[in-house]
Formats: sequence, structure tokens, C-alpha cells
Amino acid sequence: MSRVMFALSGLPAGIGLARDLVPHIHNAFVPFGIDIEFYQQDNVVLSSDPELTANSWPKLVKGLQTQSGYKTPAHLVVTQYPPGFDRSIDGQLYDTKYRGVAVVYTDVDLYGSGGAASSPGLMAQVCVHEIGHMFDLTHGLAQQSNYASCMSPASIRQHWTLRDAWNGAIAEAQLHGEPPITMPTSLRIYPFNGACRHELTSVLANPTKLPFGGPFSGGSGSAAGDRNLSLTLEIEPDSERDTISIGAGLYATVVLRNHANFIVEIPLHLGPEYGSMRVAVMNPDGQTTLFRPHKLVCSSARRSLAPGASAYCSVALIQAYGHSLFARPGPHICRVEILDLERIPKIRLAVAEMAVEVVDEGAATALNNELTRALAERRISRLKLEKAARDAGEVGVADHVRWLKAKRFASWRQRKKEFESIAAGKGPRRIRHRAARRLAVEQLLLGASPEEVSDRLAQIFHDSADSQLFEAVNRSAAGIAACSLGGAIQ
Ligand SMILES: [Zn+2]
Repeated sequence: MSRVMFALSGLPAGIGLARDLVPHIHNAFVPFGIDIEFYQQDNVVLSSDPELTANSWPKLVKGLQTQSGYKTPAHLVVTQYPPGFDRSIDGQLYDTKYRGVAVVYTDVDLYGSGGAASSPGLMAQVCVHEIGHMFDLTHGLAQQSNYASCMSPASIRQHWTLRDAWNGAIAEAQLHGEPPITMPTSLRIYPFNGACRHELTSVLANPTKLPFGGPFSGGSGSAAGDRNLSLTLEIEPDSERDTISIGAGLYATVVLRNHANFIVEIPLHLGPEYGSMRVAVMNPDGQTTLFRPHKLVCSSARRSLAPGASAYCSVALIQAYGHSLFARPGPHICRVEILDLERIPKIRLAVAEMAVEVVDEGAATALNNELTRALAERRISRLKLEKAARDAGEVGVADHVRWLKAKRFASWRQRKKEFESIAAGKGPRRIRHRAARRLAVEQLLLGASPEEVSDRLAQIFHDSADSQLFEAVNRSAAGIAACSLGGAIQ
């Protein structure tokens, strides 16, 4: 048995709820020789929800990482409001580069109107799921079995009783000649499936799999062939230029279209950070690099795509942990796959490829590299950097820098001004949407009505690809209304 230390942080109410669940969390990992222990000294108790204050989350996460010295304890944080008040999000691995901080939200749809306090069993499952990510377990591993397990999305787990899931695990272990599994006497947590059991058994021999041991393996491994012939995928670059310079990012809108005459179910959230989109870039040498988002957001919500309808997702593919995806001149292939997290076994809903020509633009190249590195390392406070980005003509990078800076403004007025100018600017759609959504959330928190906010945004955004922005704003509005938060910012 090897001890792995965790600290429990967050809001007092959430910490209290999670503390009652500690025995269940602990028991889930015991079969793998992992003795999860929560100790109290390093807990950070928050006085208000970080979602309500600008730039609180990055500061908090950085603080926890520093406090642990990027070793142990790992941090399970429990707060109330999900990102953007989007109640379809249950939790997330906040730092995929280190796997040291995971967050569980208590005020989400999964728990119904009573919140997490009314569903301790479900909350325990979410905690185990997020801690599983910290041990480098992916959603893709869960999809290798034909039953619901700890690392399946919550929506799959809800379709399976605990008893049926455990019977599935017992049968699977038998089939593969694993040591027999017995059904626990009190059923609270789903079993880990074969692939996850295999990973967890080797964790202690491989410290890079421990929290803070190394980067996350990626939200989504590759999937089997397309199963859904009704859907097509297109990648539309945001820029009118047909080349990008070395070290720069790629900004595009991905369009998933339903060509069938019936409704097709797809994940509500499309994007690399949700594990529902896998992006790989092949360089001129034939080497493939996977795009790695900085967060893994666990959402299990679904949506229906009507016949003839399209779902849009704008992406900003900037860097993968300090490595540029476009580091060499020459032709690159960018491959985007949409994965269905809910199907067992995992299926790919659609795939598309786009050719990207990378050119060496001399002086601009060095500057671009410097800027993207500075971005990745969050050394973005210098005004100089912003000016340099503008001079380099890299619209996307400059806008990204502005967006990160805008988030940090303490005053609501300053933020509003900056977000407005980014949203109405000419930059990549992804960044303009992000600024607009942040603006919308703040206005809703100030008490503006959803109609007012949408009307204002509609003056700037009226392309069909902007529908994702309005859908996101609607989810935020619903979440803010459900939490009776209108007028929360004074
Ligand atoms: Zn997850």
C-alpha cells in the first residue's frame, strides 16, 4: 500500500460535503495499492466562489500548485458554480500539464435542484472520476469496456445501475483471467473497468502517472472508424491568408453537419478541452503531434442535431505544452476528429483534414516563437509583448494576449471595455467568442436580462457559426437564473 496525499480545498460547504465522502473515495483506490489520504494542513478555504471574481481561478490554481511545490499534495477543490455557470459541467482537471489540481462543482444539473448535498453518491462518483484523471486515466479508457465505469461520463453512468456495472466488471475480469473481483457490500462508486484497472495497478511502479507526475495523456485516444454516416465535418480557417508562419497558431471553425433526414445525438460541448474533439497535426516529416488543451472539462450533456442542422465549434490551436504545432516550414496536415464520449465502444462521429502551409517569415518567425512561448508560460503582463504581437502581424496571437490581459483587470468597467473591443474586432472567432461570453456572463451577473444581452451581442455576431456563442450564453443565463445570481456583482 502506498500513500498518496491530497488536500481538500474550496468553499466551506463543499469541503464539508466532500469530507463525508472521503471513505468512499479512499476505498475506490485501495484495490490498486493506492492509499489516498486527505490531510488538513494544506487546505485552502475560500470565502467566495472563484467564478464570481475576475481571474480568481488561474490565481487559485497557481497558488495551489506552488504551495505543493508541484509535487504533493494533489488538490481536490470543491466549489459551487461551474465555469460560465454552465450547469452541464460537473468537474474538470484544471491543469493537464501537471495533473495536480481537479475541481468538482456542487451546483450543477447532475444533482438536480437539491444540489450536491442531496446526492452524496453522485458527488462521490464525480470526485473519484476527477481524481482518476489526476492518475492519468482518460475517458477513452472507459470506452474499452461494454459497461459504465468510474471514468465514463456521468450520463453513461446514469444509464447503468451500480449492480449491473459491477456485474459487468466481474464478468470482464473473469473473461480476461484477472484476479476475481467481488461486489462491494455497500454500492456507492462504479467499478474501474479493465483498462483503468490495468493503468492503476501500474501507477505505483510508474511515478509519472501520479498526480503532478507529468502531463495528461490526452483527453481522447483515437477511435474506431466512423459509425455515423449521417454527419460530415468541415474545417474553415478563420484567416483569409492561406499560410501561417512558423510557431504561429491555427484558428478555425469546425462545422459538423447532419445530412440525414433524422435527428442525430451528439455531445453538447464540442472541443479539445471536452475530450470530444481530437486534433493532430502532421509535419512535413510525417511526425504527428497531438494538440493538448490546458484543461479537461468533464461534461456529459448531449444535444440533438436536427436534419440539415449544423453544430459549430471555433478552435484556437496555439501550442501543446510549449511545443508549437507548426514548428517547421512546409506542408502540414491538420486532422480533426469528433468523438462520441458516450458510446461504448468509442466511436468517431466524423473526421476532416485540412492542409496548412507553414512559411518561414524570417524576423517574424523569431518574434512569433517568443510570443507564443510567453503566452504558454503566461508571461503576458508586459505591454511590450502586446505591441510586438501587433507589429508581427499575428492577429491571433495579439488577440489572445489581449484576452488574457483583459481577464486580469480588477475593475468591471476596464474589463468590459476591453472585452467589447475584442469581441467586435477582426480577430479569430474563438477569441472573440470567448470575450463576448465573458462579457455576457458579467452583464447577466449585474442583472441584465438574457434577451438584452443576446440582442446586444446580435449586433456584432450574426453569422451562422456564431450560433455556438448564443447557445453558450443561453446556458450561462439558465445557470445564473437557477442559482438566483442576477445582480450578484455590485
Ligand atoms: Zn472526465
